[in-house]
Amino acid sequence: MFKNYSKVLIKEAKKALNYEEVPVSAIAVYEEKIIAKSYNKVEQKKDKTAHAEILLIQKLRKKFGTTHFFGLNISVYVTLEPCCMCVSVLAMCGIQNVFYMLEDEKFGGINKVFVNSAYFMPNFYLVYNEEYHKILQNFFQSIRG
Ligand SMILES: [Zn+2]
Repeated sequence: MFKNYSKVLIKEAKKALNYEEVPVSAIAVYEEKIIAKSYNKVEQKKDKTAHAEILLIQKLRKKFGTTHFFGLNISVYVTLEPCCMCVSVLAMCGIQNVFYMLEDEKFGGINKVFVNSAYFMPNFYLVYNEEYHKILQNFFQSIRG
């Protein structure tokens, strides 16, 4: 199951590369179907908030007419560990499960977002993917080179 999703994620992340974006993508799965896909568009939109996860939530809002997803059991699959902004948004919207393929030591927000007992947090699962790891490494090497 995850293998198929990771293929879709990598395909979406490669689209970001065409625009010299950091290759990050996200998909939403509901009732075992992919219902939304997105990738990072920070450069294209000249918008620091245009992370894949935020764009994904906006697509889900169009689909469901709300961003209140509590009880819907929506899972989000994302290539890279979400940042603090995205962790907060995924939590606020009630995304049940978040799967990611690579930790982000610098900007990852999973253990850095303030949590109090009144605050819902999704379940986070790391499912490491070597192919994606290499794509991201190559991207950063190419912009530094
Ligand atoms: Zn983010």
